[in-house]
Parts: sequence; C-alpha cells; structure tokens
Amino acid sequence: MTGTMCTRCVLPHAPPDILLDAEGVCNICRNYEAEERMGALEDPLLETDFLKILDKHRGKQEYDCLCMLSGGKDSTAALYYVKQKYKLNPLVFTFNQGFVPDEHLDSARKTVDKLGVDWVYFETPFMKDMFRKIVQTRSKVVICGICSLWYMLKTYEIAAQFNVPIIISGWTKGQTTGSSRSVLSKCACDQNPEEFKAMSAATREFMDKHVRTDPKYRDFPYNMQDVMQIAKTQYKSKAVVLSPHWFVPGGPDEYVPVIKEKLGWDYPERSYPKKSTNCDLNFVASKLAVKNFGYSHYHIEMSNMIRLGVVTREEALEHLRMDYGDEVLGDILAKLDSRGMA
Ligand SMILES: [Zn+2]
Repeated sequence: MTGTMCTRCVLPHAPPDILLDAEGVCNICRNYEAEERMGALEDPLLETDFLKILDKHRGKQEYDCLCMLSGGKDSTAALYYVKQKYKLNPLVFTFNQGFVPDEHLDSARKTVDKLGVDWVYFETPFMKDMFRKIVQTRSKVVICGICSLWYMLKTYEIAAQFNVPIIISGWTKGQTTGSSRSVLSKCACDQNPEEFKAMSAATREFMDKHVRTDPKYRDFPYNMQDVMQIAKTQYKSKAVVLSPHWFVPGGPDEYVPVIKEKLGWDYPERSYPKKSTNCDLNFVASKLAVKNFGYSHYHIEMSNMIRLGVVTREEALEHLRMDYGDEVLGDILAKLDSRGMA
C-alpha cells in the first residue's frame, strides 16, 4: 500500500479522482499547494469568530447549545471548553444505534456527571436493518456516511425540541475543509472535493436501490443537504452546527492533556482509528472502504489534518494502521447477523 501512497498525505493512487504525479504527490496536495502559493486559501477561522456566534445566542433559551458527545477526546474536549471556558449552558446529546461500546458510553456518562450538565441519551435499533443490508448486498456505500445522515437528523430534531440555537460537535479540523465561508454559512458538508466523489456515488446508488425502495426507510434523508432541508421545514430548526476545534489553533496534543487532568478522561481500549472513540462499525466500514476505494473517510480526514499541520504523516499512518484481526470483524458481523460476509 505504501508504494502507491502520496508521499505527503496518506491518500493512495485511486484514479480517476486521486492521481499521484511523477514525484509521488497527489493532486489534492498539489491543489492545496497551488492555492497556498497564490494566497487563495481562506483565512483561518478565529476564536473571536466563534465567540461572536456564541454571544449572539447566549442566554436566550434554557440551553445555549446542544453538545454532541460520543465520549471520545474531540467531543469531550468540545463540551469541556463550551462549559468551562465559554461559560455556556449546554444540553448534552449522545446517540447509540446499537454499536457504541459500553466503555465509550461510560466515558460520556462520567464527563456529564463531572460537569453537572443535563444529558439526553438516545438508543434505537432503527438503523440495524440498513447496516445489515449494506454488508449483505456488498454495497460500496460507507456505513459511517449513511449513519451520519441518521444521527445528524436526530440531532436537529432534539435541538428543535429544546429550542437550542447552536449544535456543538467535536469535529476536527480534518473534518471540514477549514473554509471559513462554508462553516459560517451553516454547512461544512457543502463541498464535493475529489476525494469524496467515489464514496458519494456509492451512497447515491445505495439510496436509490435499497433505501428509497424500502418502506421502513422511505423517508430517510438522501444526503446532508436533505437533512438540513428536513430540519428547516419539518422541525423548524435554525440551529447552526459548529465545532470549537475549527476556531482554535492546535489539535489533540493541546486538549487531550486538559481533559485527562480535569475530567479524568482516557483513551478507550478498543477503537478504530487508534486513539479515537468511534462505534464498532468503524472496524467494518474502514476495512470495506479500503477494499472498495483504496482508502477510507479517515484517510481523507487525516490527510486534511496533515496539510493543515495538525498531525504528522507518521502519526496519521500509526492511527490508521489496521492491525485488528478477523476476530474483531467476526464479532461485529455476528451482531449484524451477517457473519462471514465482509
Ligand atoms: Zn497527498
């Protein structure tokens, strides 16, 4: 794999969207380099931009914001800063589609207790049939992409229910393009970069073939634009989605020591990528994505973070290493009643 990987980021040669040149550098890195040279990169977001938005909404409702909390380092730090540094009154929201390990939920519960904040915990088997269908039809759709449509819609629904004007996520700098214009105009997903094209096509195909035709999922959102449309028209939610990590310099090296000290937080024993806190389906989703596309959504995120200088290429490669065996995959597939499928 390393032989055909970009020498600067962690994306592979994957025509027609990702191409390595004679020097082994991918077109995404080359485009970034060209924009940087021309001064065409947008100014980075500033903490004052974040504060401006918070101050506009502060104190007007029972809760100032809805904090999405998985129990992982990024969402835990986001909640910690929102409560302790920016002095907001957050409502915390944790969802579980049946594949979130107990140790992640225990971590979330511990943080909520320590900070003394209100918490909505939502668990449902609603998505299980869809996850099973993805595995059994051998669709190339990335499970996490479909799941994010479901949980974002749910998050907007809860935000609307409690009249919350801001949704706070723990998304990293690598999970947005870092473009201030798109973030501040409400949607950080409103891009279609080259490296997402193949995955997006697989999502559309799966939606048309297996979701829209299934009575259980007939009303399931088609893409993130659709999620926002439903939020606006059906739920009457005007909530903006922001992550504090987009507005402050530095990355996990800065905030992990803080939450370890202040909240007694620690890394979970089992998660993919390493040093993350993601649901068990990530083991399957990432493995299938690499098989189908040559890279996963985490390769995209890590590559963004390398370009932004938040992680080194060596750190990214270590986090992405897939050294888990068939045993882990077997466990998860058994839970989907699909053993032996992937
Ligand atoms: Zn690259």
